[in-house]
Amino acid sequence: MKYFKCGKCTAPYKIDPSKFRTPKVEVICPKCGTRNVLSLGPVLAIQQEGKFAQVNLKEGVQVIGRKTENPNVNAHILISDEYVSRIHSKVIMELRGDKVFFFIEDLGSSNGTYNKNKQRLKVGLRYPFMPGDYYIVGLTKISIQINS
Ligand SMILES: [Zn+2]
Repeated sequence: MKYFKCGKCTAPYKIDPSKFRTPKVEVICPKCGTRNVLSLGPVLAIQQEGKFAQVNLKEGVQVIGRKTENPNVNAHILISDEYVSRIHSKVIMELRGDKVFFFIEDLGSSNGTYNKNKQRLKVGLRYPFMPGDYYIVGLTKISIQINS
């Protein structure tokens, strides 16, 4: 159970994060009726030299790749890094009961996907992606963070 304060009247209320399956949820304050948007779910944190971004992760497969001029070929999660292939790797989020599991798989990228021990992942094999752990695509570090 998690406690939040309403953004308007600051009344505290509790919610059960495990009941929500999307990263952003709307909770109506029981006291004043204000809609509060809460970030709950997992995010992919993208770290580059001097830059940091977060992308909400959804259930299923999300492809990571370099942003291109042609929006028709773009991956779901775009990274501006010339060492990242247009289709580089994918992150898989699986829900089993009330548990969530993450995996990463290289999709035949030119420069590979590496784990924190600098070992290159074998193409087409799923590797566990634990929250707090990281992988390297191109010159970019990616990790999963759970916000709940
Ligand atoms: Zn309120």
